[in-house]
Amino acid sequence: MTKVVHEVVALAALGVVGYFAGALLSPGGEAQAKNRYALEPPNVEARRAFRYARTEPKSCLEELDRRGFPYKLEKPTKQVDTPLRIAGPVRGVSFALTKRAEPNPDPTSPAAILDCVLALAIDDFAKVLAAHDVVRVEYMSMYRTRGLGFIKPGRRHPSGRAIDVATLTRKDGKTFNVAYDFHGWPGAKTCGEGAAKPRKDTEGARLFREIVCELSDMGSFNLLLTPHYDWGHRDHLHMEVRSDIRWFLIQ
Ligand SMILES: [Zn+2]
Repeated sequence: MTKVVHEVVALAALGVVGYFAGALLSPGGEAQAKNRYALEPPNVEARRAFRYARTEPKSCLEELDRRGFPYKLEKPTKQVDTPLRIAGPVRGVSFALTKRAEPNPDPTSPAAILDCVLALAIDDFAKVLAAHDVVRVEYMSMYRTRGLGFIKPGRRHPSGRAIDVATLTRKDGKTFNVAYDFHGWPGAKTCGEGAAKPRKDTEGARLFREIVCELSDMGSFNLLLTPHYDWGHRDHLHMEVRSDIRWFLIQ
């Protein structure tokens, strides 16, 4: 047995190897295609997220105009193809940053910048939310500079391709928070056959699952990660339109 093997065995005995292996599979808590729920759907080219991810800037903006999506163009933003900000309620649903340390984060925070193709999917999201009487979404961020330079363009937060949703507020004034109301656990399945029942059968737990699974059926996002994905997602839904992949991961 070589020295390296000895060390690995010693680390395994301490439970350390599993920890690091897990961390390597999931850098920054984001999804990898290795996940068993990452599947290529039939007719993937016809799925919305796949089409959105390939939309050229000009036709993307035309599509937003056609849909009446409220946006303002943002100045050139590193790694974001067509940077925008949401400029009003989307189908009656307002989108706001969660409260944070910086004073008055709206509307100047970089975290409120998104790429045009994400806006197409957010428009679908708003349609689903409105059908559930949701009128307000609080999100942690869309664009983030952390990871710029090593995360490839066309994916994740440094490309403005993802939104981290924290709370949903309904017309009746009730707010549901992913952190307290999702009632899930890492490893569980979220939608379809064999989907896990929430730990507690509450209104909020049902609402989150219905919305995520309706969006999964619509195919608007190719990554939809809930607290079922991992501990890093215990307090938000990560919703992404990623380029250059054929698989969808809904968990
Ligand atoms: Zn995210």
